[in-house]
Amino acid sequence: MIEETGADYKVLALCANNNIKLLELQARKFKPEFCVVYSEHHARELKTKLNDTSIKVLSGIEGINFIASHERADYVINALMGQIGIMPTLAAVEAGRNIGLANKEPLVCAGELIMRRSRETGARILPVDSEHCAVFQCILGEEPNDIEKLILTASGGPFYGKSRTDLENVSLAQTLKHPTWNMGKKITVDSATMMNKGLELIEARWLFDIMPENIEILIHRESIVHSLVQFIDKSVIAQLSLPDMKFCIHYALSFHSKNKREKRRAEELDLAQIKNLSFAPPDNQTFIFPELARFAVNEGGTLPAVMNAANEAAVDLFLAEKIKFSDIFELVERSAACHKNIKNPNIDDIIDCVNETSNRIRSEY
Ligand code: MG
Repeated sequence: MIEETGADYKVLALCANNNIKLLELQARKFKPEFCVVYSEHHARELKTKLNDTSIKVLSGIEGINFIASHERADYVINALMGQIGIMPTLAAVEAGRNIGLANKEPLVCAGELIMRRSRETGARILPVDSEHCAVFQCILGEEPNDIEKLILTASGGPFYGKSRTDLENVSLAQTLKHPTWNMGKKITVDSATMMNKGLELIEARWLFDIMPENIEILIHRESIVHSLVQFIDKSVIAQLSLPDMKFCIHYALSFHSKNKREKRRAEELDLAQIKNLSFAPPDNQTFIFPELARFAVNEGGTLPAVMNAANEAAVDLFLAEKIKFSDIFELVERSAACHKNIKNPNIDDIIDCVNETSNRIRSEY
């Protein structure tokens, strides 16, 4: 995407979990100063591969935190997966770095803290998540007080229209077949359970400083309208595009560098050909997570982090075929119900609760 923006970006560091084959290709192309690989073992492998270059290879969460807060990192794109991104996001915010945030979990688990610190340090957070990128575009130039509600659209995932009983016997393969978006496994499962929308509700609450009761979820199967904003005069502004994350990444890269859009060559949205866009209310009886998330963010404290940690552990177990799809609902609901909430938590409280929840669920299977 960097090549497509036309913006003058110089890559300081690249980071990956374990796909060092692709990381090596990107490193040779963009010639960063640093590469970070999460696992020590893969980092050593990459170091050997890159020993004909001057690129420094770092590893672990320390390596990620180091590049996220580096004084020459003018813009940090955080596309980490899951709650592992909490500390690097906070490190970047503490250092006053600007962030393009594709990683939902930092705001889900520590949104209040991260947004407060970002206001204090001047770190600007631009959303890369498609719904939030849409809201950002809809409210640009508007008065915050004129915003009445946010309407986040949801495709409904592969199991839209099914009942709780139907969900008892769905397979992993069925779950991973998303109707409109092509994404990683974890987020595809989250889409099927609608937890993704729950996480996005919390993310929106903090990003746009809007009360949870003023965030609505709307089922929109075609994934063309990425979200809408209703204003005090009941006017509604929506953002539309084909369902491709490249639109959001391009916008976040252009907006950071120039505070405006940049031209891009991409397929056009042909509404005459699409013909119909449909909308429906969500089924909150079957898909309980958006309302659970609304409850969790209203309660505040460590509850959203625990809900997220339980979901992350449950999805891992489901992907490893150790539990059924419907068990994800049960595990998350139970963890949230049992949690002794800590109000006004500091980051250590949050991380402790996350680890305790993850370890407890994983040790049960
Ligand atoms: Mg999204």
